[in-house]
Amino acid sequence: MAIDQAPAPAQQASAQEIARTVTVLGLESSCDDSAAAIVRLHGDGSAQVLAERVIGQNEAHAPFGGVVPEIAARGHAERMDTLAAEVLAEAELSVSELDAVAATAGPGLIGGVMAALMTAKGLALGAGLPLIAVNHLEGHALSPRLTEPLAFPWLLLLVSGGHTQLLVVEGVGRMTRLGSTIDDAAGEAFDKSAKIMGLGFPGGPAVEAIAREAADPGRFPLPRMLAKDKSCDFSFAGLKTAVKRSWDALEAPTPEDRADLAAAAQAAIARHLCERAGRAMAIFSERFADLDRPLPLVVAGGVAANAAVRTGLEAACAEHGFRLIAPPMKYCTDNAAMIALAGAERLRLGLTDPLDAPARARWPLDEHSAANAPATGAGRKGPKA
Ligand code: AMP
Ligand code: MG
Repeated sequence: MAIDQAPAPAQQASAQEIARTVTVLGLESSCDDSAAAIVRLHGDGSAQVLAERVIGQNEAHAPFGGVVPEIAARGHAERMDTLAAEVLAEAELSVSELDAVAATAGPGLIGGVMAALMTAKGLALGAGLPLIAVNHLEGHALSPRLTEPLAFPWLLLLVSGGHTQLLVVEGVGRMTRLGSTIDDAAGEAFDKSAKIMGLGFPGGPAVEAIAREAADPGRFPLPRMLAKDKSCDFSFAGLKTAVKRSWDALEAPTPEDRADLAAAAQAAIARHLCERAGRAMAIFSERFADLDRPLPLVVAGGVAANAAVRTGLEAACAEHGFRLIAPPMKYCTDNAAMIALAGAERLRLGLTDPLDAPARARWPLDEHSAANAPATGAGRKGPKA
C-alpha cells in the first residue's frame, strides 16, 4: 500500500510568528475525563506545562460497565469552568495574559465535546482571544512533543478506549491515516472482554492484572483478526464474540479459567496491534527511506499502559529498525496539555477558528483517507474517527 503526500495546511504565518513564545489554555471533555491545562510553547519548540488538572469519572460509569454519554456530559458541564479557573490560578495567570484558548471540538461523545468547546468560546469571546478548535486525535498525535522536541515525521499508534489508528504524522495539520478500526477500539476490546468475565470497569487494567495469574495462557484458542486482510486496519468485534463463546461454554468458571481466558484475550489483542503496527512500519520505512534509523514509533492512548502490548511493540520495533516512544502515561491518556499544545502549535501557524466552530462527534484527522475508505471513515456506521 502506498501513501499519499499529506497536504500542507494553508500557512500564512511569518517565520517570526512561528518562532514566538505563546501561552495557551486547553480544555478537554470528549470522553470521560474532564481536563484543563496551560502550556507555554517556546520559540525553540520546547513545551512547558504550567498547570494541569484531570478529573476522571470511573466511579460514575463503573455500574454500567462502560461510559454512559449523558452521565459523562453532565459531569463535564458541572466541572469545566471550575477546572479552567483552577489551572489559571495555579499558573498565576489571568485570562488576558493568555494568547489563545483551545478546546477539543471532536471527535467524541457530542454532549461532552460541547462542554469544553462552549467554555472555551465563552472565555475567548469575553477576553477577546483567538479560539482554536482542536481535533482530539491531533492532540494525541502531537503529545510526544510535550516532553521532548521530537522532529517530524513519526509513526503514531493510537490505542485508546475510543480510537485505534495508525497515522503518519508529518507536521501540524499534516497527517495521513494508514489504518483504523473497522468496529471496536482496542480499549473497548479489553473493556468488553472484562465485562463478559465479570471484571470491573475500566477493563484493561483488570484484564492485565488477572492475566498475570494465568497457568495456561494458550488454553483458549482465539481467532487472529483480519488474518487474510493485508491492510493496516484493525478489527476487534470477532474477538469479543469468541471470548463470550469461550466464557459461556464453561459450566462453572473458576478463577483459573478466568485468568487463562484473560491472558488469551490480552495476547490476541496485543498480537493484532503489533502485526498491524509492523505492517505500518514497513510502509513508513519505504516512504522515508532516507531518514536516519531508528525511526520513531509513538504509542499513545490508555492501552499503551499494557505491558504485553508494549513488549510486543518493542519486539516489532527492533525487527523494523524503529524506536518505541511512549509519552508518560498522563499524556498517553486523555488530557488537556496535549490540546493546549496542539492549540499553541496551530496559533503560531495562524490556524485559528471562528467562534461558531462546531462540536463534531465524528471528525477524521485525515479527511482524504477517510473519504477513500468509507468502511473506516466518518459515516454514520463508521467508528468514531
Ligand atoms: P483512554 O481512552 O485513552 O482514556 O484509555 C482508556 C482505555 O484504555 C480503556 O478502554 C481501558 O480499559 C484501557 N486501558 C487502560 N489501562 C490498560 C491496561 N493496563 N491494559 C489494557 N488496556 C488498558
Ligand atoms: Mg479516558
